[in-house]
Amino acid sequence: MSDLWNVDVALDRILQGITPLPAERISLPDSLDRVLAEGIYAQANLPPFANSSMDGYAVRSSDTTDARRDHPVSLRVNMDIPAGTAADCGVGQGEAARIMTGAPMPPGADAVIPVEYTDASWCPAGHVALPSTVRIYRNAQPGENVRQIGEDIRAGQLVLPVGTLLRAQEIGVLASLGYMYVPVSRQPRVAILSTGDELADLDEPLTPGKIHDSNSYTLAALVKTFHGIPIRLPIARDNLDDVRRRFNEALAQRPDVILSSAGVSVGAFDVVRAVLEEIGKIEFWRINLRPGKPLAYGSIRGVPFFGLPGNPVSAMVTFDVFVRPVLCRMGSRPESTAMIGVLTGEDIHSDGRRSYLRVKLSNEDGQLIARLTGTQSSGVLSSMVLADGLLIVPEGATHVPAGSQLQVRLLRYINQ
Ligand code: AMP
Ligand code: MG
Repeated sequence: MSDLWNVDVALDRILQGITPLPAERISLPDSLDRVLAEGIYAQANLPPFANSSMDGYAVRSSDTTDARRDHPVSLRVNMDIPAGTAADCGVGQGEAARIMTGAPMPPGADAVIPVEYTDASWCPAGHVALPSTVRIYRNAQPGENVRQIGEDIRAGQLVLPVGTLLRAQEIGVLASLGYMYVPVSRQPRVAILSTGDELADLDEPLTPGKIHDSNSYTLAALVKTFHGIPIRLPIARDNLDDVRRRFNEALAQRPDVILSSAGVSVGAFDVVRAVLEEIGKIEFWRINLRPGKPLAYGSIRGVPFFGLPGNPVSAMVTFDVFVRPVLCRMGSRPESTAMIGVLTGEDIHSDGRRSYLRVKLSNEDGQLIARLTGTQSSGVLSSMVLADGLLIVPEGATHVPAGSQLQVRLLRYINQ
C-alpha cells in the first residue's frame, strides 16, 4: 500500500497550484448563482427619500394628539400625492395631504394616518375625488407609517461583501441600487475528452465491441453542477495522432481545466501518456482510493489537467474528490460538501483504501441507516442512480461492523 498516495495529500498538492479566476462583468439578470468578485458599496440611500408605508393621510403628528374615534380631529386636505410624484408644497398646521404607499412624504408632515382611521375611506379600484377636509380618528407618533430615507441601506455602506453568492434577494438589492452589470468571478471553462477505441458517440451506430461514451456526458453535467462551463470534445481514438489532435483542440478552447477519461490504468494508457508527456508536465499517481485508484495529474501548456479513470463510477468519484474542489477554488466558491453522519446497516468489508461506497439511506427511529446499493463494481453506473450518497470508509479499515458511525457524502437532497 505504501506506493499509494493519500487522498488528502494528493488533493493538497493539486490545490497548491490553483488560484481563483479573475472577475468579469455580466448583466444583472444573468447573475443568479454567481459569486461577487468585488464588494458592493451603496452609491445612494435606499429608500432614496422618506415615503409613506400606507395609503392614508400625511399629517403633522402634533395635530393629531387629541384625535380619537369619538373625538375626531378635522384637517384641511391641501394636496394629493400619488406614488411616483413629488409633493409640490408642504403640509402646514391643521393640514393633511392624501398620500399613497411609496409616495414621498411632503415637507412638514412627519406621520401617516392610514385611511381606515379616517372618514375618507376610498374604494381601492376607483378614483375618489379629493375631499376638502378629513376627519382623523386616532393619533400618530412622529415617524409612524413613514419609511425613512436610508432606512434599508445607507449611502456608502458595504451592502454585499466580495464572495457573496447571488441569490434572488441579492439580485433584488443590486437592482434597487441601479446596477445593470455586476462584477462576478469567472466560471471555469472545462474541456472534456473521452478516449478509447471502444467508444461511440450518441450519433454513431453501436457496432460490435463498441459502447456509448457516457463519461463525457456525466462529467459535463458534473461540471455544470459545480458552476463550470463544460466543453465536450470529440472522442479521441487510441492512437498518437488522434489523441494529440484532440488535446490540441482542447487547448484551442482556452480551457481553465482539461479532463480526460480512460487510458490511465496500467497497461492501457501508453498512447495518452506518450502524448501528455510530449505536450505537458504529467505525473501518474496511484491513489489510496476506491473506486478510482489510477489518476493522472499535471498541466498542459499551463492548464491543469486531470486524467480520470475510464470506469464510469471511478470517473464520478475522482471528479468529486479532486476536480470539484479545484472548480470551487477557481470560481471562488466555498468547498462545502453535503455530508451527513449515519450508522451502517450491515457489515462492510473494505480493502484498506479510502472507499466511497454507494448507499441508500433510510430513516429508522430518527437515525439514518446506510445500506449498500448492491454491487460496488466501478463499471456499474446504475449503482450511482440508486445511491442517495457515498459512504466513506476511511483508510486502513478492512471490516466495518454493522452499527458503525460513518460519514456519507450526499448525492441528493434527503428528508431526514
Ligand atoms: P480504461 O481506463 O481505458 O482501461 O477503461 C476502463 C473501463 O472504462 C473500460 O471498460 C472502458 O470501456 C470504460 N470506459 C472508458 N471510457 C469510457 C467512457 N467515456 N464512457 C463509458 N465507459 C468508458
Ligand atoms: Mg481504454
